[in-house]
Amino acid sequence: MKNSLTTDDPEPRQKGESANQDIDWKDFRDHLATADQQGHRMWLYPKKPKGRIYNFRTWFSYLLLVILFTGPFIRINGNPLLLFNIVERKFSIFGQIFWPQDTFLFALGMLIWIISIVVFTAVFGRVWCGWACPQTLLMEMVFRKIEYWIDGDSLEQKKLSKAPWTGGKIAKRVAKYSVFFGLSFVIGNTLLAYVIGTENLYAIITDNPLNHTQGLAAMVIFTLIFFAIFARFREQACTFICPYGRFQSTLLDENTIVVAYDHKRGESRQRLNRNQSESERQEKGVGDCVDCNQCVAVCPTGIDIRNGTQMECVNCAACIDACNGVMSKLKRPLGLVRYASLNGIEKGLPLKVTPRIIGYSVVLTALVTAFFTLLLTRSDVETSLLRAPGTLFQTTPDGRVTNLYLLKLTNKTSHDIPVDLRLMGMEGGSIRVMGGDIIVKAGSLAESSVLVELGPDLMDGKKTRIEVGVFSGEEELERVRTVFVGPQGKVP
Ligand code: SF4
Ligand code: SF4
Repeated sequence: MKNSLTTDDPEPRQKGESANQDIDWKDFRDHLATADQQGHRMWLYPKKPKGRIYNFRTWFSYLLLVILFTGPFIRINGNPLLLFNIVERKFSIFGQIFWPQDTFLFALGMLIWIISIVVFTAVFGRVWCGWACPQTLLMEMVFRKIEYWIDGDSLEQKKLSKAPWTGGKIAKRVAKYSVFFGLSFVIGNTLLAYVIGTENLYAIITDNPLNHTQGLAAMVIFTLIFFAIFARFREQACTFICPYGRFQSTLLDENTIVVAYDHKRGESRQRLNRNQSESERQEKGVGDCVDCNQCVAVCPTGIDIRNGTQMECVNCAACIDACNGVMSKLKRPLGLVRYASLNGIEKGLPLKVTPRIIGYSVVLTALVTAFFTLLLTRSDVETSLLRAPGTLFQTTPDGRVTNLYLLKLTNKTSHDIPVDLRLMGMEGGSIRVMGGDIIVKAGSLAESSVLVELGPDLMDGKKTRIEVGVFSGEEELERVRTVFVGPQGKVP
C-alpha cells in the first residue's frame, strides 16, 4: 500500500520527543510538560489544529462567546441575562434576580452547578475545559487564531521567535500585542459589566473620570490581568491556577469518557516504513501508531496523549483530529486517539453507569427539584413584619387594643410595585401603614411602621396569631404571619 503521509513538522524528532519542545517522556509525571528539569518555562508553539471536531468546536465556541460577551447586555423582563454583582450582592441568571434575601436559593444554584460539573466529569471527563471554559474558548478560539493569523503556524512562530529584531518582526509583535491588548480591554470591560452591571459601566465610561476612580482602576487592572494571561501565562492558567484539573483525578475512573489513545491498537508504535507491506507489519505485531508526533504537535498544553490521561489535558480533542488526519492518509481506521474510557479501550466495554454516577445523579435531581420549587414559589416581594422593639400594646378608650410593627418590603423585580396590607380573616380588625401608601421601588427595600388594631372579641388571650396579606391591587403577593400581643385574659 502506498502511503501519502507527509509531515510539515520543522525539526526531525527522535522517538518520544515532543514537537512542541524537548521533553524526556520517561519522567513525564514528575514535572509539567511546559517546564524543563530546572523548572524553567518552555514556550509552546502548538500547530494549528484542523479537522471535523475542531471545526465543530470553532462554531460551538463562537456561539458561547456571543453569549459570554452579550450576557450582561441582553435583557429579559428588564433584567440582565447574566449579572454577578458581588458589590451589591445582586445576581441575575436568565433574567431571574437574586437578592441577598435569596442567598439560600443562590447557594443552592451554586451547589447544583458544582455537582453538575462533578457528575459530568465522572461521566465525560473534562469536557467542560475543552468545550465551554472561557479560558479555553478565549485562548484557543480567539487569541491563538489571531496569533496564527499574524505570526503564522507553529514553524513560522518558532522561526520568528529566534529571528533578529528586524522591522518585520517588530511590526508583527506590535500588531499582535496591540490586538491582544485591545481584546483584553474588551474582556476586562465585559467582566466589569458582569460585576457592576451595564448601567454602572456606562456611567464609568461616559461620566467625569474623577467620579469613578475605583471603576477606572478596576478597568485597567482587569485589562492588564487578561493581557498577561493570554499573551504570556496561557496554558499555565489551566495547569497552575485552575483547581479543577487538579481534583479531576478524584472524579475520573476507568469508566469515564476522556480523550484517550488506544494503546492496544497503537502499540508497538513504529515510524512509518513505506517498504513494509501491511501483512508484514501485522505479522511483526507493529501497531497503528506511526510515531509521527502530530498529536503532540497540536497539543496546547504540550503533552503526549499516548502517555495516558494527564492532569494537563484539557480535552480539547485537537489530538483526535490530528491523529485522524494521519490515519486517513494511511487509510487505516480512524479513532486511534478518540473519546473513550479505559474500560472501553482495554475491554471493549460501552459507557457504564456506575453506583457513583447514580448517587451523584440522585443528589443532583433532588437539588434541582428543590431549587425550582423554591424559585417558582418565590414571591416578587419579600415581607418582614416584626413587632416594634420595646413596645407592648396600647388600649384605646373604647377597649380596643393596638400593636405597633416594623414592616420591611424587598422588591425583587425591576419595576416599582405599589403595595397595601390587609388583615386576613379578622372582620372588625384593622391594619394601617403609617405615612400612607407604599410604593416599593424596583430592586429596593422599603420600610415603614404599621399599626394593627383588634377588638377584644378577636383576641385569644395574651398572644393572638394574625395573618397579613400583602397586596398589589387585587393580586395577593404574599401572606405573612405574626403575633398580636394583648393583656392577660379577655379584655373587659
Ligand atoms: S492531549 Fe489532546 S485533548 Fe488533551 S490537551 Fe492535548 S491536544 Fe487537547
Ligand atoms: S497517535 Fe496518531 S498522531 Fe499520535 S503519533 Fe501515533 S499516529 Fe501520530
